[in-house]
Amino acid sequence: MKKAFILSAIISFLFWACQTPTQDSNTENNNQEEIKKVNPIAIVIHGGAGYMAQSNMSEEKQNAYKAKLDEAISKGHDILKNGGTAIEAVQRTINILEDSPLFNSGKGAVFNHEGYNELDASIMDGKTLNAGAVAGVTNVKNPINLAYEVMKNSKHVMLSGAGAQVFAKERGIRLVDSAYFAVPDRLEALKRAQNKTALLNWEDEKFGTVGCVALDKDGNIAAGTSTGGMTNKRWNRIGDSPIIGAGTYANNATCGVSSTGHGEYFIRLAVAHDISAQMQYKNVSLQEAAEDMVLNKLKALGGDGGIIALDKDGNISMVFNTSGMFRASIDKNGQKQIKIFK
Ligand code: ASP
Repeated sequence: MKKAFILSAIISFLFWACQTPTQDSNTENNNQEEIKKVNPIAIVIHGGAGYMAQSNMSEEKQNAYKAKLDEAISKGHDILKNGGTAIEAVQRTINILEDSPLFNSGKGAVFNHEGYNELDASIMDGKTLNAGAVAGVTNVKNPINLAYEVMKNSKHVMLSGAGAQVFAKERGIRLVDSAYFAVPDRLEALKRAQNKTALLNWEDEKFGTVGCVALDKDGNIAAGTSTGGMTNKRWNRIGDSPIIGAGTYANNATCGVSSTGHGEYFIRLAVAHDISAQMQYKNVSLQEAAEDMVLNKLKALGGDGGIIALDKDGNISMVFNTSGMFRASIDKNGQKQIKIFK
């Protein structure tokens, strides 16, 4: 009888011990909650802005774009969720878009006037204000990776053309035959542009540049942009995408920005830096600064396009003055958004 009593007491105790969370696991949960509250992670991407009519884009095509945006943003978010850095997330996310023929970066880049692809990219670390950029490279598979190498392993911020490719080779960056970038749609776009005899042809071509901004668990912001530039560009034209302050900017104190659109206007307005500067000097919110730039200043000058951005608190902005912008985000609450049109 006594034995049975002791045995049932032991069983009850063990059952109770298994059901009741330990002090340690409670503390761990609280800590995780704290980390979540104190250190938000967030990520936002674009795949270019332009005048694309929803009625002209088949459901199938829209779905293909959305699926690729989804794959890219999910990859970047996974990196952040697993403790990776914002710079790493930006690079790997952009790699997915560069490798897709859907976007105007890496494979699928637009053609220049002479009928080949010249690629530009830049990346910036908001913690150190370090930055790297490349312009006019013709055989670097993932230009954003070369921009990162320039930032990490050179004394410079921007390299261009043949020299950039020598540096790429030295750093073991993957090179490809220039034929790798070519896709038939882009060749068609070049022919259309040339038949119109317009040097720069905006209205009927979406831009398709790609960009990413990420905030990691340590509060670091990074931004990057990668592009083939503009269809039918000539004379080694370089747009805003590889220009720090125009196409890309990141500063932990304010925000990170990646631009897409008619590059000449973005350069003239130093778009990405201006948004950060407005926040710093005027103390306005990211959304206010982004709207002022894209909907007022850029529009007034005649510049088409948009920006994606996020601030140090994980607030996200995606503002454009065209009919569409390929875009996706995962905010600090884990909410995912993928959109093309307004
Ligand atoms: N901003 C790029 C450029 O002007 C083009 C784009 O965003 O699609 O080169």
